[in-house]
Amino acid sequence: MEVAYSNAMLGLNANLHYLSKENVDAVVRAFKFANKAPRGQFRVTGEPYIIHPVAVAKILASLKQDAVAIMAGLLHDVVEDTEVTQQDIHQTFGQEVAHIVEGVTKFSQVQYSSPLKRESENYRKMFISMSKDIRVIIVKLADRLHNMRTIQVMPENKRKRLAHETLDIYAPIAKRLGMQMVSIELEELGFAALYPLRYMILLSHMYNVSAGQAEVLLHLEKQIRLRAHEVGLEVLDVSTREKQLYGIYRKMSKRKSFNDLLDVYALRVCVKDIESCYAMIGILHGMYMPKPKSFKDYVAAPKRNGYQSLHTVLYGPHGTPIEIQVRTKEMHVMATQGVASHWLYKTGQSEFNCKKHQAWFNQLADAKSTCASDAMFIDLVKHTVFESELYVLTPRGKIIELKDGATVLDFAYCIHTDIGHKAQAAIVDRETVSINTVLENGQTVEIVTCDSVTPQSQWLDFVKTSRAKASIKVFLKEQVISSQDQLG
Ligand code: MN
Repeated sequence: MEVAYSNAMLGLNANLHYLSKENVDAVVRAFKFANKAPRGQFRVTGEPYIIHPVAVAKILASLKQDAVAIMAGLLHDVVEDTEVTQQDIHQTFGQEVAHIVEGVTKFSQVQYSSPLKRESENYRKMFISMSKDIRVIIVKLADRLHNMRTIQVMPENKRKRLAHETLDIYAPIAKRLGMQMVSIELEELGFAALYPLRYMILLSHMYNVSAGQAEVLLHLEKQIRLRAHEVGLEVLDVSTREKQLYGIYRKMSKRKSFNDLLDVYALRVCVKDIESCYAMIGILHGMYMPKPKSFKDYVAAPKRNGYQSLHTVLYGPHGTPIEIQVRTKEMHVMATQGVASHWLYKTGQSEFNCKKHQAWFNQLADAKSTCASDAMFIDLVKHTVFESELYVLTPRGKIIELKDGATVLDFAYCIHTDIGHKAQAAIVDRETVSINTVLENGQTVEIVTCDSVTPQSQWLDFVKTSRAKASIKVFLKEQVISSQDQLG
């Protein structure tokens, strides 16, 4: 067993080359701690327990995350699965790691009860708001990614639930944060788990089509490199893009034919700088006829998640469309890793200029301050991604959106005016609390009403939402009027 454990750690070690010696030591300490804690446990897969946290840590290392995130990845299940407490983690590894572990644990406690489609968006918002540190989401996504990679060992019903949750919640969150590499893998794994047969059929079709395309793609690449060379434009990389089966499947349900979707050449060209991107488009449009209105400039106008590239579609040999993306190396990192790349550049390994290139940051706020501190960055991400701050659940799992700082009473009025008027207390996550208790993200709230309760003017001192305030004021006003009436 010891051999297996140290092998697992060795595998991780090899991925940590970008961290300082000090940081690697800290990661090793977290590994030993995690390894000692749940000794003797085995996963459903039959592997030693430590395999899972190490795999999560490896995913985080492949995203070039900092030591804190990797340590949290190693420790993420420890509090839930063993005697180790939150305070133990705090004392041994400090507040940052403890915070992330706590956040990830909270994630798993929210029961996602396969809601209606429109509810998923609220879940996503809630998860993001719950995460005071964006690394909570990154660690959770790495955790889910490994669970999905090993999903075959799960019983059927659990497999389906995980797959649904992954497609509805986690893949879109990854996409929203610009982490395309993670979102695509989550989608493919989720799709394969949910509809294994459809997945297999699509896969074999795609395999055939790709085999037929290989030669033409090679020819195209040669042509592009040749033309670029003629005008002295440096080409860093030309690659064929893998087609995503889930993406094709979704488009098929919009009644597009299978062959139309697959019979497309897809290429990506990587060049040195922004000017070269536009120059490359010029070269491409000179080679083949561009499809009208197909040119998209996401360099000048980046997508909401920070994505930048130039897109164009050409009519290639035999009129088959060639979809081409042109981008710089920096844009490529941003496109595939998104928010997760923030820490990559903070480690100072690259001369990446975040003011100049990172549309994501520019878009968030004045670029000047964006890289100043992590806390600020995280805050900016949260505020830009979702304005609303507080998401809580009804006992039936419906998500209620409130203002930050909202209380139990605000929640009650949000459900119904009569419930607000009669609110006496609440049960929040199985604990009875008073109506002025401030709510936190992800809590489940049940209001306790009592017929003898009536709204009091003091209530106005602590409610936050305008809806609650207005309802209380209206009630108090009517009360004054009716008592005046009684007095004659
Ligand atoms: Mn886990």
